[in-house]
Amino acid sequence: MSSDRKKLTTGWGAPVGDNQNSQTAGARGPTLIQDVHLLEKLAHFNRERVPERVVHAKGAGAHGYFEVTQDLTAYTKASLFAEVGKRTPLFVRFSTVAGESGSADTVRDPRGFAVKFYTDEGNYDLVGNNTPVFFIRDAIKFPDFIHTQKRHPQTHLKNPNAIWDFWSLSPESLHQVTILMSDRGIPATYRHMHGFGSHTFKWVNAEGKAVWVKYHFKTEQGVQNLSPSLAAQLAAENPDYHTEDLFNAIESGDFPAWKVCVQIMPLEDANTYRFDPFDVTKVWSQKDYPLIEVGRMVLDRNPDNYFAEVEQATFSPGTLVPGIEPSPDKMLQGRLFAYSDAHRYRVGANHHALPINRPHSEVNTYQRDGQMRPDSNGGGSVYYEPNSFGGPAESPADKPAPLDVTGQADSVAYDHNDHYTQAGDLYRLLSEEERERLVQTIVAAMKPVERDEIKIRQIGHFYKADPEYGTRIAEGLGLPVPQ
Ligand code: NDP
Repeated sequence: MSSDRKKLTTGWGAPVGDNQNSQTAGARGPTLIQDVHLLEKLAHFNRERVPERVVHAKGAGAHGYFEVTQDLTAYTKASLFAEVGKRTPLFVRFSTVAGESGSADTVRDPRGFAVKFYTDEGNYDLVGNNTPVFFIRDAIKFPDFIHTQKRHPQTHLKNPNAIWDFWSLSPESLHQVTILMSDRGIPATYRHMHGFGSHTFKWVNAEGKAVWVKYHFKTEQGVQNLSPSLAAQLAAENPDYHTEDLFNAIESGDFPAWKVCVQIMPLEDANTYRFDPFDVTKVWSQKDYPLIEVGRMVLDRNPDNYFAEVEQATFSPGTLVPGIEPSPDKMLQGRLFAYSDAHRYRVGANHHALPINRPHSEVNTYQRDGQMRPDSNGGGSVYYEPNSFGGPAESPADKPAPLDVTGQADSVAYDHNDHYTQAGDLYRLLSEEERERLVQTIVAAMKPVERDEIKIRQIGHFYKADPEYGTRIAEGLGLPVPQ
């Protein structure tokens, strides 16, 4: 061994004399418990995995930046949008939703599109998908929905009965189901898909004036998709196809980029728009609220270490900065709690202090202790507030903008229940070839459902979106066309 190699050490830094042979009582004797290096090595190995994410377990990530291309200070005081040309570093994680961390990339599934902006007023996480809408619109349904996407408790198999039973009983899913079953349900790569913040957010400017906003990340690589047969072949031959593609593209200097656009809705329009603009199963028509290009996102650096950066990255829609606030979207409101809570369980109470999650700006908090505190834990500084010792103090100018609310505290649905018009608009927007592939995909996906009652209920939803859509699926399944 050449003498310029560093000495191998234990985790606590002592040199290791032998990393090939464990200590035994004589050459043929049993292994000795005093071989602490062996014990530590095996014990650490047993603990190499943190629990995988319940959803979005399989993912790939990259570093990059956001650059402002249009002055938006009239709408938001968020420092990342402060001036044209300003660059903010960011980290992105793309993912599939339903599969485990070793599952194939090229499945039909929405893709997670999570962006962590390291702004100079703290981190801003935009935790979206590659689709503008979602299957449900109230967080109370999320655990049930995800159960249907996961494995059957007895067979441990994916279960089309549960999937279509839930969707047919939750018709608000129809718009997202149509997108998922269309060509865009299997992107060619993570680079060839759009990203969406999906929810409505509130932007507030320096004068305290607010607007509602939705984000669109338009791929500069162009939208490209995989046919189901090629996707199946790739899933068998290279289950990490998308992960590999992203890494190799960035490694070879072919940096993927997205145009970042927003739709802006005046605050008062939310009371009069033709449906509830906070309902995440709906888009805002771009004819009503055109896309405004605001910047560009470029990914130009691969992670050095997958676990440290991609696996330990923790994104939460509640990680907001001054100038960007939540809307009353009931799905978003639940996610504000659930994501951080998932990370407290998965990575630990101090997940925000890990290098990949740590803000680049100063952090001054009275939070102390907890498992795996990787920083100085505040040293000997004052550890409560209010205090007389000059510790960090609140800044009233950074309070969120007030929101008028009225009504009774109650469990109530969104009052707009047209789940069909926008799903039908999408169907009607597709070419005949796209419609044919959509119908074939849905028919193939619904065929294994055992109960006709479920299939007939779901066909009724497709029919209400567009009679031709429902008729073609009914015919494909050999079931009666609804009257
Ligand atoms: P517009 O004509 O203004 O917008 C149509 C949108 O549909 C564009 O964003 C376009 O994105 C997207 N699109 C085009 N082809 C497909 C496809 N094969 N699969 C999925 N999306 C596609 O119409 P509206 O705003 O009134 O929306 C009409 C329908 O378009 C909606 O019901 C919705 O299903 C769908 N849509 C709307 C979006 C929105 O934000 N308003 C966003 C995405 C979809 P691209 O630039 O990629 O072609």
